[in-house]
Amino acid sequence: MKLSRLGEFGLIASIQRRTPKGRGVKIGIGDDAASVANCRAASLVTADLLLEGRHFDLRWMPFEDLGYKALAVNLSDIAAMGGIADYAILSLGIPPRLDSREIDAFYRGFQGLADECAVALIGGDTNAADQLIVSVCVIGHAAARPVRRSGARPGDDIYVTGTLGDSALGLKFLKRRARSERPRLHPRALIRRHRRPTPRLAAGALLAQNGLATAMIDVSDGLVQDLGHICQASGVGATIEADRLPLSAAYRALCAKDGIAPALSGGEDYELLFCARRKDRGRVEKLPGRAGVAVTRIGVCTAAHRKVAILDASGKALKIRAPGHDHFRR
Ligand code: ADP
Ligand code: MG
Repeated sequence: MKLSRLGEFGLIASIQRRTPKGRGVKIGIGDDAASVANCRAASLVTADLLLEGRHFDLRWMPFEDLGYKALAVNLSDIAAMGGIADYAILSLGIPPRLDSREIDAFYRGFQGLADECAVALIGGDTNAADQLIVSVCVIGHAAARPVRRSGARPGDDIYVTGTLGDSALGLKFLKRRARSERPRLHPRALIRRHRRPTPRLAAGALLAQNGLATAMIDVSDGLVQDLGHICQASGVGATIEADRLPLSAAYRALCAKDGIAPALSGGEDYELLFCARRKDRGRVEKLPGRAGVAVTRIGVCTAAHRKVAILDASGKALKIRAPGHDHFRR
């Protein structure tokens, strides 16, 4: 049904019908505000805004994947603090031309990940807009002391979970396909990483609970840029060995002339980038078995204040053309 027929309250009622109540929820969708149990004295709170045309393009982003991703990017921020996610608030600006089935698909993707991660959707807001606007807020709690960006010290090892650059390469192929330049190889794995990034909640919580990460951030804007944030906040530098960067098989097969650029600065990986003391190396390297994701040591923190250096196999520093994504820079 066209949303212009279903109307705001019809839509909210259908969202309410399809949303399970969730653990800790005393009052969910349907009143003026939600009421929830707080597990701890302190909450972790994060929000992300996704705008059509700027963060996603409906020509190559299916609604169901968009719903999944809108929640995933917020959960990734909770993971980067080493936290546990509890509740989500989802606000939408919706063009009335959309069909209610498209919004249904969006909620299916959102709720699918919410179920997987035991997060309860407890409310939101709905309005009409010229372009689709998705705003998500997630509330969680810290399982241990939250891991900040500022705790890295010179000599700490630098690690990243999963693989880098898949999302950026996947997006490149999607754009190419939209221009009907059919790529010969079908990079399904890369496209999936772009549409459905996995929030590394288990890895983040394990690192925090075991006191292993001295500093942590999720890679949303590109490795070089996000590592720069850790260096800035911690007052350290960093040296990364380019040939240690974890690249997926699909990436290696399809990166061609892009080389390692998408892995260094492509963005939207939503992997965890963290630092740990040299003496904890053995314990960190045991982590993948419990967290369900690979962890790769890619470099070391230095005393070269705020300077990020990427070294090639011969130890020569590579020139980085663009460190990563910045919404206000072109
Ligand atoms: P109010 O006018 O008091 O803001 P609304 O009519 O906007 O009330 O919302 C009614 C209920 O529906 C509230 O519980 C609100 O949190 C929930 N809600 C509104 N929009 C959404 C949405 N897009 N997703 C989930 N819950 C929503
Ligand atoms: Mg409202």
